[in-house]
Amino acid sequence: MELNDQPLAVHEAQALSLAWIAPVGVERVSLFEAVGRILAETVHAPHDLPPFDNSAMDGYAVVAADTAGASEASPVRLEVSEQVTAGQLPQQAMSSGQAVRIMTGAPLPEGASGVVIQEQVRREGSTIWLTRPVKEGDHIRRRGEDIRAGQAVMSAGECLTAAHIGVLAAFHRAFVTVRRRPVVAIVATGDELIEVDEPPATGKIVNSNAYALAALVRAAGAQPLVLPLVRDNVAQVEAAFAEAAATADVVVSSGGVSVGEHDLVKPALERLGLEARFWRVWMKPGKPLLFGRLRGRPCFGLPGNPVSGMVCFHLFVRPALGKMLGLPETRWRLPEVSARLAHEVRTKGDRPTYLRARLVWTETGWQAEVLPGQGSGMLTSMLGAQGLVFFPEGKRVGQAGEVVPVLCLTSLVGDWPGL
Ligand code: AMP
Ligand code: MG
Repeated sequence: MELNDQPLAVHEAQALSLAWIAPVGVERVSLFEAVGRILAETVHAPHDLPPFDNSAMDGYAVVAADTAGASEASPVRLEVSEQVTAGQLPQQAMSSGQAVRIMTGAPLPEGASGVVIQEQVRREGSTIWLTRPVKEGDHIRRRGEDIRAGQAVMSAGECLTAAHIGVLAAFHRAFVTVRRRPVVAIVATGDELIEVDEPPATGKIVNSNAYALAALVRAAGAQPLVLPLVRDNVAQVEAAFAEAAATADVVVSSGGVSVGEHDLVKPALERLGLEARFWRVWMKPGKPLLFGRLRGRPCFGLPGNPVSGMVCFHLFVRPALGKMLGLPETRWRLPEVSARLAHEVRTKGDRPTYLRARLVWTETGWQAEVLPGQGSGMLTSMLGAQGLVFFPEGKRVGQAGEVVPVLCLTSLVGDWPGL
């Protein structure tokens, strides 16, 4: 395919990349491993929940009709016929005039129609006295009142929380089918890079992108696979991408993707037979961003500038991983909120611009504090950024108090897998 040199709009590039993304396969995991995973089956209740009528309180099971006229002036007297604790079975059906001592969670004896809590009863030996009527169904948890047998209780695409896991266990499900975590190979390129545990050296910088990208991959519910550093040399770049495509579901690279002499990612990928889809996106930070399919694997060539790389990850790779995990679109799109600018903001306006911002909840709604240091190499402005304020092309000034759209980076509702 001929690659268009014209940069694409963000939404066009997102649509093109997502069109080449399909959900990964599934695997069975133990409930102990299941939190944060994405369900890949519909779960139907195999039986009612609760599975049997039981008492909601410690007290006495009674035949409600026996207690109809009970009052302080004329208490009703009942004979305690047996005691049932949680986990036991009643020995006999109840009849009129009887009461069964019953504990929370114990099965209700046949014939019982209400439970009176122990604090409302006077007991003398095997006799109890009631001074007020018990209504039908009082303090009884009915079989199936929570979930009916056959009812669909969870659907594919839901992120498993502690509550899901509790419900699965209540249905005797020790294992559950979830989407496999997509393996994301991370390839960092650059002659200037050293590893985090190497001593500082003039002219060198730490390969911090590999760590930040690995963290983003994990927070998106996928599995990072960080490959060894790659120098700006065609053979090395080619070999690294070939290995990445052979071992991972997705390849994400950092650096070497612009038009400098040392930007070898695009030529190396083309030599490997990349089916390229686009390589420039009209946005700031970002712009160089290569996307295509390498030996069937989606491949994102992110810019090396740390902020550009992270912003492009949020806008392109994170939705792709969400789609691979089988999440519905409403979950993999970055949520957008409207917020008021806390102070005036100026930009060049030469491209659609994403500004790192802190989001603060106020009485009048969300307020966005655009952080200082918006240069694409200024990684510290990502610290504390919960959102990206969006300025369309041509917008140079945002007034204090003006309402602007903000893409949320961390999920405000906290339900993004892994967060
Ligand atoms: P590039 O996209 O390769 O031209 O890189 C742009 C700039 O991003 C470089 O000059 C570095 O300062 C920085 N950079 C590139 N790769 C990394 C990396 N792996 N970790 C941190 N910074 C990087
Ligand atoms: Mg480079």
